[in-house]
Amino acid sequence: MTVSVLWFRRDLRLGDHPALLESMKADARVVPVFVLDQRLLGHRTPRTERLFASLADLHETTDGRLVVRSGDPRTVIPDLAREVGASSVHVSRETTPFGRRRDEAVEAALATDGRHLVATGTPYAVGPGRIRTGAGTAYKVFTPFARAWREHGWPGPAPHPGAVRWASGVDSEILPRAATSTDSPAVGEAAALARWRTFLDERLADYRTERDRPDLDTTSRLSIPLKYGEIHPRTLLAEVAAHDAAGSAGAETFTTELAWREFYADVLWENPDSAWHDLRDNLTHLPYDRGPETDRLVDAWREGRTGYPFVDAGMRQLLAEGWMHNRLRMVTASFLTKDLHVWWPVGARHFLDHLLDGDIASNNHGWQWVAGTGTDAAPYFRVFNPVKQGLRFDPDGGYVRRWIPELRHLEGAAAHEPWRSAGGLGHGYPERIVDHDQERRETLARHESVRGRN
Ligand code: FAD
Repeated sequence: MTVSVLWFRRDLRLGDHPALLESMKADARVVPVFVLDQRLLGHRTPRTERLFASLADLHETTDGRLVVRSGDPRTVIPDLAREVGASSVHVSRETTPFGRRRDEAVEAALATDGRHLVATGTPYAVGPGRIRTGAGTAYKVFTPFARAWREHGWPGPAPHPGAVRWASGVDSEILPRAATSTDSPAVGEAAALARWRTFLDERLADYRTERDRPDLDTTSRLSIPLKYGEIHPRTLLAEVAAHDAAGSAGAETFTTELAWREFYADVLWENPDSAWHDLRDNLTHLPYDRGPETDRLVDAWREGRTGYPFVDAGMRQLLAEGWMHNRLRMVTASFLTKDLHVWWPVGARHFLDHLLDGDIASNNHGWQWVAGTGTDAAPYFRVFNPVKQGLRFDPDGGYVRRWIPELRHLEGAAAHEPWRSAGGLGHGYPERIVDHDQERRETLARHESVRGRN
């Protein structure tokens, strides 16, 4: 009887899992393992708590056989393979710069012992690096990428594995206890599927028209399950197609949003340095603000005390829930980069520290999109107006009041402009830390000054 190792990373599920099916071939007993790599989990953040909760769920679905080991995968994985007598270690291919480097090192370490790292599938419907132009180059712009991605198509979901023969008796550390309760409906594979199917039945139809309304909670909120691989985009795409064969507006738009996730993974695959450096060099000479006064303003942004209610509501939701609506991610990122004139990695780092769905490809390229250094550069003169954005996308002020108790005394849209109401600022809400119109002009002047310099 053979034994194989299945090393879980961003794929914490059993359904639609090609690497699991591969590890079961030849009737193998499967050792499921997760490595607590201190380079990634050195200090506990909301995201590590969420990960531990998801691992607790995986421990249950693997009949309590999940093996947890701490250390550097370059030694932990080859040691485990040797210990259990497995000739291959199965993974879903990792596509981030860190993951690729790590896996190459693990593969080399396994090879010294005659063992193999076998990668099957990725966290994406189409593996990064696959969608290429006729000339064989990567796409730099989203729309043609999305068209080619749809034309390429994707495989259907992998069949459910049925009863897996998990190996028993392999030593495991005790899984760190998550501060997040595993009873929370938001954690684990079954919860992800349930959330998805509710969205499909109740929200998809109106998704195109309502997805921009943070006050209505109309998006899928699947970014967190997708981050941990509790659900795979192939499953989503197949079920959208089956549910909505005629391709309604909601189905079309939702598919396009998933294409953004695939696009940014592809951009990162092609440009590993763009994780923390400007993708394009158009703004290399742009002057950014720094120093103690800027630090004070950035702290106010981080804590949701800028005096702009829509911005502050988003930043407070991030701190409280570890999630923020896409509209708010754009508005708050614009505020940091264009009202406070701060280089985007400062904000990207803060988001990654707090977002439960924090993903280096989507987050850092989302930031670059807003900052104007990334793909599809929006015209540099597009600076989000935080008040107008609030009035448009939270017309009754409900979202702002939910997150800012100091503004609950203001009714309707008045919550977006407390400085206009008598006593509006009297409940502890701060004055605006900068004047948006003035900073917008400053941004435009700075951009003008560097145009054509590269
Ligand atoms: P839905 O509207 O239900 O969309 C469905 C799925 O499509 C999402 O779960 C996500 O996987 C994908 N998606 C939607 N919009 C985008 C997008 N613009 N870029 C990439 N994928 C998208 N998304 C993350 O998953 N992790 C991040 O760290 C992240 N950081 C961001 C930072 C900034 C500055 C910006 C502007 C966007 C960021 N996004 C990030 C993208 C987007 O905001 C979130 O995916 C979305 O808000 C998650 O909510 P949802 O699952 O309800 O989305």
